[in-house]
Amino acid sequence: MNIVDQGFPTAALIDGNWITSDDVFPVLDPASGLTVASVPNLGAREAKMAVDAASRAFPEWAAKTAKERAIILRRWFDLITAQTERLALLMTTEQGKPIVEARGEVAYGASFIEWFAEEGKRAYGRTIPTTVASKRYVTLKQPIGVVAAITPWNFPIAMITRKVGPALAAGCTVVVKPSEETPLCALALAKLGIEAGLPPGVLNIVTTLDARSVGDVWCRDDRVRKLSFTGSTAVGKQLFRQSADTLKKLTLELGGNAPILVFDDAHLEQAVAGTIACKFRNAGQTCVSANRILVQAGIYDRFAAALAEATSTLKVGAGRNEQTKIGPVINQPAIAKIDSLIERAKADGAKVLIGGSTVPDGPLFYPPTVMTGITTDMDIVRQEIFGPVASLIRFDTEADAVRMANDTPFGLAAYLFSQNLSRAWRVAEKLDAGMVGINEGIISNEVVPFGGVKESGLGREGAVEGLDEYLETKYVCLGAIQ
Ligand code: ADP
Repeated sequence: MNIVDQGFPTAALIDGNWITSDDVFPVLDPASGLTVASVPNLGAREAKMAVDAASRAFPEWAAKTAKERAIILRRWFDLITAQTERLALLMTTEQGKPIVEARGEVAYGASFIEWFAEEGKRAYGRTIPTTVASKRYVTLKQPIGVVAAITPWNFPIAMITRKVGPALAAGCTVVVKPSEETPLCALALAKLGIEAGLPPGVLNIVTTLDARSVGDVWCRDDRVRKLSFTGSTAVGKQLFRQSADTLKKLTLELGGNAPILVFDDAHLEQAVAGTIACKFRNAGQTCVSANRILVQAGIYDRFAAALAEATSTLKVGAGRNEQTKIGPVINQPAIAKIDSLIERAKADGAKVLIGGSTVPDGPLFYPPTVMTGITTDMDIVRQEIFGPVASLIRFDTEADAVRMANDTPFGLAAYLFSQNLSRAWRVAEKLDAGMVGINEGIISNEVVPFGGVKESGLGREGAVEGLDEYLETKYVCLGAIQ
């Protein structure tokens, strides 16, 4: 795909201007390893320029009615939706995911813009019954100010719209630093935003290889009132520390170590299908992807065999092939990590039922893999593997399963399969996780709150909670009423 001939932008966007530079960095297609485009490698100076622009644009954008903002956002949604096929192909080209999943992400990503455009109209305050006859109490919801968004590569559109949608709907202006692996989707989105009528400075995109400098400038700048980050726990903690001096509001969507609990009373086919969907989507590169599959002793062998059988049908290949179910992983360090975790698990006694070694499709392809004999102390289930590897752990009792599931510093998503309603409810309540799927492996959408507990992060994205992250509550007291 020729990115420039296709009309996709390869310049950054600051204050409504497309910014080029002699200093550029390449964007690679993980399936072929080829460079598909180059984008500006901006730095601290441009990071500050972006905040200048967002800060100048803020008063006018905030002063618009939610309905006026919604009209522009709705147009943006329509433009994205109309270009689904082109955007999906762009995403597969720079990120690698199967084209069918890329189309799904365009729709999922766009849904945050549509939904928050409407929800912005319902940023209700309250009237509070008075305690003194001469006073009246009211709360107003007001946009927080300039928002900085730093996003990862695994969902190149949705991780941006999940932040930018509610921020813009609330009346905030935004500076975005997309992942260096996937800047093209961010720029394509921004171009459609400008076409939809976003005024200059309301949305700015800074591309860079020097994430640290850009993050540093934004954390130090007291005009940036909110930082929303999705990425690794290590970087999230660093940004949390860096935001202390200006006391920014934070939304942090960090790493997970999701368990799936398969009980003896699970519906076998349902549990296998749910596990496949949850584990192998985006080649396992999602933060809600199951990292540990805990299976009760009575169903363990049947489940393992059925999972291996179903996994063997998943076609590995370049994402642009309609039949592909497992595309390449993002880069060489990702492959090296998967390989070394599997080798260490094998050395410690784990067995590979299917997959487990590289395939001839190319250096970044890894086959879907099912491993048994995993124990809870192995690195393969203590670290987030972020690859297409299902690690099966045997358990005996419900109490054991809950204890094992919660034995991690993370708490993003958890899943369980059981036909016993009492058990399903009981266990869902006991799991330390921000989200629980019961008999379901895919749980995220725009109308529900996404987020984690413990070291998986702070705040929620999507739903009414997701809008609130970009609003301040102002209490107004009217006194001297006669
Ligand atoms: P991942 O392992 O998913 O790439 P990262 O946390 O490394 O997770 O990256 C997520 C986002 O954070 C990317 O946009 C990346 O460029 C950015 N990033 C990485 N390091 C820093 C940093 N020190 N300061 C600010 N942003 C960073």
